[in-house]
Amino acid sequence: MAEFDYDFYVIGGGSGGVRAARFAAGRYGAKVGLAEEGRMGGTCVNVGCIPKKLFAYASHLAEDFEDAAGFGWTVGPRSFDLAALVASKDKEIARLNGIYDRVLTGAGVEVHHARARVVDPHTVDVSGRSVTAKYILVATGGWPVVPDLPGREHAITSNEAFYLPELPKRVAVVGGGYIAAEFAGIFAGMGAATTQIYRGPLFLRGFDDDVRRHLAEEMTKKHVDLRFSTEVTKIGKGPAGLTLTLGDGSSLEVDQVMYATGRAPNSRGIGLEEAGVKLADNGAVVVDDHFMTSVASIFAIGDVIDRIQLTPVALAEGMAVTRTLFGGVPATADYTNVPTAVFSYPNIGTVGLTEAGARARHGKLRIYRSTFTPLRHTLSGRPEKTLMKLVVEDSTDRVLGVHMVGPEAGEIVQGLAVAIKAGATKAVFDATIGIHPTAAEEFVTMREPVAEPAPLPAAAQ
Ligand code: FAD
Ligand code: NDP
Repeated sequence: MAEFDYDFYVIGGGSGGVRAARFAAGRYGAKVGLAEEGRMGGTCVNVGCIPKKLFAYASHLAEDFEDAAGFGWTVGPRSFDLAALVASKDKEIARLNGIYDRVLTGAGVEVHHARARVVDPHTVDVSGRSVTAKYILVATGGWPVVPDLPGREHAITSNEAFYLPELPKRVAVVGGGYIAAEFAGIFAGMGAATTQIYRGPLFLRGFDDDVRRHLAEEMTKKHVDLRFSTEVTKIGKGPAGLTLTLGDGSSLEVDQVMYATGRAPNSRGIGLEEAGVKLADNGAVVVDDHFMTSVASIFAIGDVIDRIQLTPVALAEGMAVTRTLFGGVPATADYTNVPTAVFSYPNIGTVGLTEAGARARHGKLRIYRSTFTPLRHTLSGRPEKTLMKLVVEDSTDRVLGVHMVGPEAGEIVQGLAVAIKAGATKAVFDATIGIHPTAAEEFVTMREPVAEPAPLPAAAQ
């Protein structure tokens, strides 16, 4: 008789949990159970990457209609119906939920649509039923955090933004990270008067400074009202909508306010601490290089460990944990040169080090930067500019960072991420023949580094 009901019991059917369960069962033949309390696929499929990108497509079509005139088209009257978009999106996501279920059951995973809770190092309570497992994987993801302020009950988060019954006429988005930048672009493109409020001097902290400045300029051209270095101190509700009181005492009237001020790990109330699993102060499950928690039979991956909150990272961690447990090879995830895109309008694509990060770690650099009007906008007349930038280590010629703001930046940078991972030098970029006419060819045709900023005169230092 087997010692445990399962070899592997996974809590959470999101990006990381599904991948780990599917691999453990399908590739390694382990006996696997998985509990998902919500909809299969987790954040990314239901209230994250996928609906967000569908919303971004919808909102960005507005400019295509306008741009068409420069190419000889006459486009008739148009209107946007958010409820119709939500309904189409829901249909697609229901299809994906079904696919996820089938992929798991097809691989031999027993799926339980239930809330699970860790009882002890080898026991999980699945909606009142105890199951035992040799290994338990916690892949419970995260949840949006809204700061405590008067009137916070009037705020929505990205979770609710995907189900709005109609487009608010005036929207404020609070925060300066991925979600806030993306939703500010989405709401503005859909036609809402949009204000983005961020507490620091420039949003997207951690991205390259040229990228941050360039996106701010482009979003301003697209009529997003960017208010930096300010905070909302109170949200009031009246007959005409919501009144946001800002740090400087001024106020802003809106119909909807969406907070995108970060996400906290879903680690409390599921028995982890009681079972001896150590949590960091912010609730992140503490794991070693092989995703083992402080309890040797309990592992954790994805947003709940709060390393890099991205779906492909959760997938890589899921693969690593299954290889370690069932493939006989201690595996880890490689967090160097993780490419990423912000689906703002225009998009950001980036891989490797920012200029500031490279300066701090690598000494003398060469910076290649190009700002240009995409070919399409020579006829559309839209004053949009694309930015491309390479950060190169002078002594080795290695390209340390690739940054772009412009259409399809994520698609372009994904390819270049392979070159960066392979350690490509600037000479390799130079030796690569471009594809003409594309925007991407600019990455292999930038020849002259930008001049180093002149040192400040001694008197000014
Ligand atoms: P999740 O996908 O959150 O899955 C966790 C699952 O666990 C959930 O389904 C939850 O219901 C379930 N669960 C929790 N507790 C229990 C319990 N006790 N019992 C049973 N089930 C439980 N990443 C990208 O790479 N690209 C993007 O474009 C992108 N866009 C995003 C847009 C938004 C608006 C958001 C919010 C996130 C976005 N992300 C994006 C991030 C990405 O969604 C996450 O990094 C990824 O989903 C993390 O996967 P996970 O498996 O750790 O957690
Ligand atoms: P982020 O961590 O990216 O950004 C949070 C933002 O909120 C920051 O600008 C932060 O400011 C600000 N903030 C935090 N606390 C407060 C506060 N109390 N008051 C005011 N502002 C505050 O989180 P998001 O919620 O945008 O997204 C969560 C994660 O999901 C992302 O980090 C990303 O990993 C992932 N994601 C990925 C996407 C993609 O791949 N395209 C898209 C969407 C999400 P400060 O910088 O000053 O700390």
